[in-house]
Amino acid sequence: MVYPFKEIEEKWQKEWARQKIFAVHPDSKRKKYYLLEMFPYPSGKIHMGHVRNYTIGDVAARFKMMQGYNVLHPMGFDAFGQPAENAAIKNKTQPDIWTHKCIEWMRQELKKMGFSYDWDREVSTCDSEYYKWNQWIFLKMFEQGLAYKKEASVNWCPSCETTLANEEVVDGGCWRCDTKVEQKDLKQWFLKITAYKERLLEDLKQLMDWPERVLAMQTNWIGKSLGVEIYFRLKSSDKIIPVFTTRVDTIFGATYIVLAPEYPLVKEIIGGKPQEKEVLKFIDKVSKESKVVRTATDVKKEGVFTGSYAVNPVNNEEVPIWVADYCLMEYGTGAIMAVPCHDQRDFLFAKEHDLPMRVVIQPSAVPAVGGSAFGGSRQPSARDMSEAYEGDGIQVNSGQFDGLPNQEAKVKIAQWMEKTSIGKIQTHWRLRDWLISRQRYWGTPIPVIYCAKCGIVPVPYENLPVELPKEAPFTGEGGSPLAKVKEFAEVKCPECKSQARRETDTMATFFDSSWYFLRFCSPKFSQEPFDKPEVKYWMPVDQYIGGIEHAILHLLYSRFFTKFFKDLGMLDFGSQPQAGQPAAGAAGADEPFNRLLAQGMVLKDGAVMSKSRGNIVDPDSMIKKYGADTLRLFILFAAPPETELEWDDRGIEGAFKFLNRVWRIQNNFPAKNSGGQAGSRPITGKAWREKDKAGPALIRAMHKTIKKVTEDIQDFKFNTAIASLMELVNTIYQSDTDKEVFSNLIIMLGPFVPHFSEEAWQMMGNQESIFKTPWPKYDPHMLVEETVTIVIQVNGKLRSKIDVPADISEDKLKELVLADAKLKPWIQNKPLKNFILVPKKLVNLVV
Ligand SMILES: [Zn+2]
Ligand SMILES: [Zn+2]
Repeated sequence: MVYPFKEIEEKWQKEWARQKIFAVHPDSKRKKYYLLEMFPYPSGKIHMGHVRNYTIGDVAARFKMMQGYNVLHPMGFDAFGQPAENAAIKNKTQPDIWTHKCIEWMRQELKKMGFSYDWDREVSTCDSEYYKWNQWIFLKMFEQGLAYKKEASVNWCPSCETTLANEEVVDGGCWRCDTKVEQKDLKQWFLKITAYKERLLEDLKQLMDWPERVLAMQTNWIGKSLGVEIYFRLKSSDKIIPVFTTRVDTIFGATYIVLAPEYPLVKEIIGGKPQEKEVLKFIDKVSKESKVVRTATDVKKEGVFTGSYAVNPVNNEEVPIWVADYCLMEYGTGAIMAVPCHDQRDFLFAKEHDLPMRVVIQPSAVPAVGGSAFGGSRQPSARDMSEAYEGDGIQVNSGQFDGLPNQEAKVKIAQWMEKTSIGKIQTHWRLRDWLISRQRYWGTPIPVIYCAKCGIVPVPYENLPVELPKEAPFTGEGGSPLAKVKEFAEVKCPECKSQARRETDTMATFFDSSWYFLRFCSPKFSQEPFDKPEVKYWMPVDQYIGGIEHAILHLLYSRFFTKFFKDLGMLDFGSQPQAGQPAAGAAGADEPFNRLLAQGMVLKDGAVMSKSRGNIVDPDSMIKKYGADTLRLFILFAAPPETELEWDDRGIEGAFKFLNRVWRIQNNFPAKNSGGQAGSRPITGKAWREKDKAGPALIRAMHKTIKKVTEDIQDFKFNTAIASLMELVNTIYQSDTDKEVFSNLIIMLGPFVPHFSEEAWQMMGNQESIFKTPWPKYDPHMLVEETVTIVIQVNGKLRSKIDVPADISEDKLKELVLADAKLKPWIQNKPLKNFILVPKKLVNLVV
């Protein structure tokens, strides 16, 4: 007998929607729980990664519901972005039509998985009721000076034909298409995220329930480090060349100086020198090269000696001054101190031009095998090195700082330099402002107007939203399609009413997702982006679940936006305790996500599922073959949520068999307990024997399982929770049972296989949804194993007593008896002749 999953799943999906059992409203008398999974980009189909992410969230949401929480579990679509535009070009349609079709398909697929979403709260970021608020937020930031326009050298993806944020450049390539990113000088809109750098860094300490690696990635990205501006003096005059470094621990190894060809002092120091002509020729040549070529890592670096020297202020050593193409005027001071032994670029340049090198940091433990920078040598010297050593270690050749660990020396050297006025401490940050302009159509229009008389004029609030024109020319050839729509681009200036031009760049889509979790609290609110009292009740998100790829981008931007709203006076969650809730959450009043789980990827044949590899397993086909519950059960059982999951056809078969096994127990349940019908079916497998009371062993097993499953779900150890439910099913199979045990089994299966459990629950005669049934509690007294006292004799005389579990095996008992310390004097060194056992009573040792 195979359980009829298709009818059951369709039936309950309809029934849950009809009863609206997942629709929620603030209720000050109940504890709230906000569970959120990162909303998807509507590509049209859900993939196994989505299934995994959303199933993990669904288990937690249903579990909290059954624990009595008022659970907010919303879903929506991150619907702007480039793929829609590319699809429109390819299929000769409009991004709007294409995207809404995709959303429609995807919503159906999500519904087929039976997720417990409050669909009344669905939002799509491409709808003007949503992106109107992006524009509103932008204007607020503009008023505060946090949104500004500037000309800068920016990242440019030639394939996507748009600019990219620093966070969107991964290993030198575009995060979306991997194309090598170029630099372009453009006038662009930025958000001043750097105004929040101190708080973004400091508040990471509050996020106790975030994965370590995400915290480390954000810390590193914000990149606060100790820097020093060091004053090198010209040998020939008193002129100073300041250089900036974050590696002041390597200053004793600075063996030459490099100036940018555009550096103002260059012409002065080469004047009248034999090198003058050659240097001028070089400067002229470099001035015609692009910055991209000059800084590219795979192009050989060129440079020339100026004939002049500077003095390294820490040891008064004379160091040659060079001019090189890779030194740019706009980075730092336009001058670099070169430390060939501890900087790879300097290393290559020094080798090329035969410049002096000196080791000043020695690895604390030199690896014995080759492959290290020092080629395995115990006494590192520059000559032996095959590459620069950029790691940590111990100071050498560094005067009074020799022998110190370099991180400690860094602080001491900086302080000493400041004290002796040869340098100045400066905190260095890696974080840069967030570039949000995109030269694309399918995004939120940036709400500003350019007027020849008034300059940059923000669109007045009452004129929002600035709506995207429904139609635009999608040719895929250069420039923003919006700029080509006359009716959109040409406007009257809101201030002086003369002819003006609208901004035709749109916002990066990460803007949209930086606050959607707030919109979910009051998705239809029409006065502001969100309704403060509703946000106060629901926020912060108690549990957030999504991919590790957002560790820096989305998760950093969302934290920035939340802090911005807090400063606007729009948020006050966490600051005042609500009835029945702890005071501030683990995170403070301006951190959006209390707990974060980054789920692992789904692999097949050891690789991430992808079209090009041809190893995709389509969720829809699995639902058709086995049902959503089986798919959910397999995904949850195959691996803990944070680790990678290897797809296994036998695994899903096994999950299906397990559900059928429980189904058979259910159907052998006597008629009076099962709501009538099941009992009339033929009994197969082990006959159901109802007793007034189950045996104590089974009751104990039930309580143990309740404890284990409850704790495991709380800790997101779903695989071991399911394993103990499987064990309980085995125990039920092997013994008599009763209604309580079976009921609790079905309740505990609820979060994992919701349709199946709901059906079984109804068949047992229950009227109300299983998800409105309280989660079972265990009795701590029932966790104690039943024990018996065994009397121990040696040669017939009572010598000891021990308590052992009633069901102990003979071998285990023998082991325990012989280890009993009280027997030592009586059996010492004497061979054991006999071991006589009277079960559950007595042992006699004959020695
Ligand atoms: Zn690209
Ligand atoms: Zn004007």
